[in-house]
Amino acid sequence: MDRDEYLERLGTTAETPEDLFEHVEERSTAGRTHYVLTAARHGVERGTVIVEEAETIVRGYPSIPRILVLDPGVPSFFEDGETVVIEEKLDGFNVRIAAVGGEPLAFTRSGYVCPYTTGRARDRLPLEAFFATHPEKTLCAELVGPETPYSTHDYEGVDTHEFRIFDVRDRETGAPFAVDDRRGLCEEYGFAQPRLFGRAAPADAVGPTRAAIEELDAAGREGVVLKSADGERLVKYTTETQHHEELAYAFSLPFDHGRDFVFSRIVRDAFQAAEFDADDDRLEERAHDLGESILRPMVSAIRAVEAGETIGERHTVRGDPETIGALLDHLREQSLTVGLESDRREDGERVLEFVKVAESSRDRIRYYLDGGTR
Ligand code: ATP
Repeated sequence: MDRDEYLERLGTTAETPEDLFEHVEERSTAGRTHYVLTAARHGVERGTVIVEEAETIVRGYPSIPRILVLDPGVPSFFEDGETVVIEEKLDGFNVRIAAVGGEPLAFTRSGYVCPYTTGRARDRLPLEAFFATHPEKTLCAELVGPETPYSTHDYEGVDTHEFRIFDVRDRETGAPFAVDDRRGLCEEYGFAQPRLFGRAAPADAVGPTRAAIEELDAAGREGVVLKSADGERLVKYTTETQHHEELAYAFSLPFDHGRDFVFSRIVRDAFQAAEFDADDDRLEERAHDLGESILRPMVSAIRAVEAGETIGERHTVRGDPETIGALLDHLREQSLTVGLESDRREDGERVLEFVKVAESSRDRIRYYLDGGTR
């Protein structure tokens, strides 16, 4: 790879190629080599991919900062005179879809080409038409629904999985479309998008954001991303339900998730409680739910290991047999231990239920159950 050329094209603040490419990994997909930045460095996002053969850079999706209080979090994040757009944040899996050498590929956040997501995106989205007119754009999508290889959150009306386009960016520079332009473009191609709650000046945006969060919380949904109208500045804020759901997930596999993961969710909930839960009954209810989301899943995990059951993340996927086979290879290449729970045909599709085995949790729980000491 001509590192000097890519240093320049990436517009990085790094002075030498070594600084930028300190964390670069060489991977190969369908016989084509690509290089992936595995950590954010000098203004270049993690998951940025360079496909030298096609002279293509697919920029990583930027990390979105989070506010812990709406007031004054929202007005202080945005500039006076800006318009804040309130959009739903969906709980699924981030995919970047870009045409490389004319071929649409779906990249995961960490820069792998996922064969399953690529296959589904080609089946379900009018990619040919889109990339014929916009070959140098990246569609940033959330893959949502109960049947994906990476997330399982249920959404009303989504039986298996669907794509929601939440951003369209320049493939190489990562420059976004303005929110209204992107929403118009997606409508033109029939791409489904996250719900838009409204727009407000920064000083007036706290009330509508809080109303959106309360509505989303009641519906068991994740939260919002607030965006400046030009699409450049993004900040996120999530619901109580989401905090508790993520804690329940972490404690269902207690020795596979770092302490930071758990602590950060408790911190989010505490700041939200301090801002939202004016009365004691409300705080008590939250405290109760928080405790349940910690204790119950962990006790279930201990009992499951005791009963000899496999613990891990369970997923169902469906698609043509070849794509499902490629997905299994892809997951195994990432050193995941995959246990197959059911493998059947439905309407010509292969439907696979599998578990990503949580080996650390399984082994530690077994050790303590056998009387091991800490
Ligand atoms: P990071 O902290 O790097 O942003 P993370 O993996 O912790 O990443 P999340 O907390 O899930 O990510 O928040 C960012 C992700 O939210 C985006 O990468 C995107 O996949 C997802 N997302 C869902 N809906 C939207 C939306 N409307 N606008 C922007 N991002 C969205």
